[in-house]
Amino acid sequence: MKKIVLKISGESLQKDTQGSGFSIENVYKVASDLKYLYNFGFLLLIVLGGGNFLRGAQHKEYNISRLSVDSMGMIATIINSLALCDALKKEGVPSVLYSTIQVGNFCEEYSVEKAENAFKDRNIVIVGGGTGIPYFSTDTSAAIRAIEHGADWLIKLTKVDGVYNEDPVANSRAILYNEISYDEFLIKKINVMDLSAVTLCRDFLIPIYVLNMKHIRKLSYLIDERSEGTVIY
Ligand code: UDP
Repeated sequence: MKKIVLKISGESLQKDTQGSGFSIENVYKVASDLKYLYNFGFLLLIVLGGGNFLRGAQHKEYNISRLSVDSMGMIATIINSLALCDALKKEGVPSVLYSTIQVGNFCEEYSVEKAENAFKDRNIVIVGGGTGIPYFSTDTSAAIRAIEHGADWLIKLTKVDGVYNEDPVANSRAILYNEISYDEFLIKKINVMDLSAVTLCRDFLIPIYVLNMKHIRKLSYLIDERSEGTVIY
């Protein structure tokens, strides 16, 4: 059974491009996609972002300290994760949610051992709270989880089609890489994924697959074919 860590950005749950928060339809859509992958036979650990609420980089815009905005962002990942975990259970998929930060008795604190035991019982494991440390991102949290659990892949599901040589939004002629080495990604400082996450995956030899969220169900074969998206290896 392939063990994969899926990093899903908060944007996938977002109401619309402007609005903050999540739409419950999108939460159920993601849950149903994950159910499909679960039934296919993947062992899944999910790390959800919180960018549909806010991101640390916006602290100046809000005139709130970076520390506070980062803390709010980590709490936002718990809000998203609670919704997704509940939706998965309602879809009949055994799922557990752990948090890297203490949030009271409605969400157990994360540990590698607890998550491994949950895998043995064939649960989808969701880890909220990011790294639990400000100034980081959920990409880095996903990289750490992938290392801790010896994942076969870290899969970053995003709104673009993979890793480009330039920003594809700013330049429509940007070229999509089919694969790129960790070092080239780091030298070019490509910003589709946090450099700290890529550095960790390089050091611990975890391959990263960057894929458009719209292809999530195709992972059942794309993980072997890789005819879409970009592999960072
Ligand atoms: N965050 C943090 N530490 C972490 C993970 C997240 O401080 O380990 C904060 C940070 O402000 C980040 C926000 O939570 O911008 C939301 O996470 P992220 O940007 O990774 O979400 P995504 O863009 O993937 O939805």
